[in-house]
Amino acid sequence: MQIFTCRTSADICESQLDLAKLSHTNWIQFGQEALLYADESDWNKIANSAGRSSISLQRNHNPSQQENLYLVRQKGRLFQQEHPAIPVLLDKGRFLVVDLEPELANQFHQREDPCYQIQPLGETQVVFSLRPQLAARRTSVKWIQDLVDKVSRSSLESNLTKLVSWSTRHSTSSSYSEAATWAQEQLKTMGYQSRLENITAGSGTSHNVIADKSGNHKGNKDLVIIVAHLDSINSLGGSSADAPGADDNGSGSAGLLEIARVLGTHQNQHDLRFILFGGEEQGLFGSRQYLASLGTTERTRIKAVLNMDMIGTLNVTNPSVLIEGATISQSIIDALAEAAETYTGLTVEISLNPFASDHVPFINAGIPAVLTIEGTDSANSNIHTANDILDHINYELMEEILRMNVAFIANEVGR
Ligand SMILES: [Zn+2]
Repeated sequence: MQIFTCRTSADICESQLDLAKLSHTNWIQFGQEALLYADESDWNKIANSAGRSSISLQRNHNPSQQENLYLVRQKGRLFQQEHPAIPVLLDKGRFLVVDLEPELANQFHQREDPCYQIQPLGETQVVFSLRPQLAARRTSVKWIQDLVDKVSRSSLESNLTKLVSWSTRHSTSSSYSEAATWAQEQLKTMGYQSRLENITAGSGTSHNVIADKSGNHKGNKDLVIIVAHLDSINSLGGSSADAPGADDNGSGSAGLLEIARVLGTHQNQHDLRFILFGGEEQGLFGSRQYLASLGTTERTRIKAVLNMDMIGTLNVTNPSVLIEGATISQSIIDALAEAAETYTGLTVEISLNPFASDHVPFINAGIPAVLTIEGTDSANSNIHTANDILDHINYELMEEILRMNVAFIANEVGR
């Protein structure tokens, strides 16, 4: 078998991969890049076709067996840091293709590690796509633009600085409780009905912070939920080791507080709820237990769940955002992408491979949910260490992602 990668100048779409289809080649798309694999006999056909197309093929130097190809989804670079000797054939940050013995892969499967997941690469699929750049921004709506313009660097910076001032926000630590109480107070001051809810996280207790703002609409009201996990972790150092968690997930938590501030005096038609989850790093405990507590009526009126996790590190030159959901969240994904095209200069990546954050339990329950996260072409290698600090935070990226999210939420809850 032969493996090769190709790049195109624009987004790879199916028509551009006709040569792969013609030659019965399997292709896996990662934004502007694709990995193709085929039998030896098809290689010449592909090479000849490529010569006549706009696609340039690069033959990979590591031919392998098809059964050895695995797709890895990882947080930061946690898979690579744990397994530096495993050959990486394609590196797109959150997503990797690796060359792995099936026996070893089976051991990974059994672990159900929340830091990364491994699955056979399979055949043709889009792991993530790149939204084509528009020539100009879409036309904005005045009242939404006014809200978007309220996103403030100073309050964002002050909240994130406060969050990293606790040496750790480990889910079951006393400092997590302090941080959760502080966040609840902030939301209360902004005018929200806020409360702490206890959850279990392993053998300990942690908390979710929940804040509500009812809509003005007479009659049935939809519910829009904005979430982020407040806890942090130091994977190697244990529960008392330094875990500032500036990007993971001080950025999403400070972002949630900033969106709440921006919408604090907004006259929304539909109901708005903000939730900071605990126990995410131990296995999505906060979101799972919150979801389990919801009755059918409440579940069915959820129009959208918007999760923010790691929105503060610029891993590539262009400020970019990955919008990650599933088929059930497609309309939210489209609306977010349009918000980005109207109110920001972000490059938008889209994935229907939801993984390892608090949007996943909602999606699994059939509720339209989506994650917004810094772009995936590279990855933050500092997460889950004492080095996830403010020095690595890019506030311009955070503000851009928040502008997109504010515009999306405003449109969903109305006025
Ligand atoms: Zn996280």
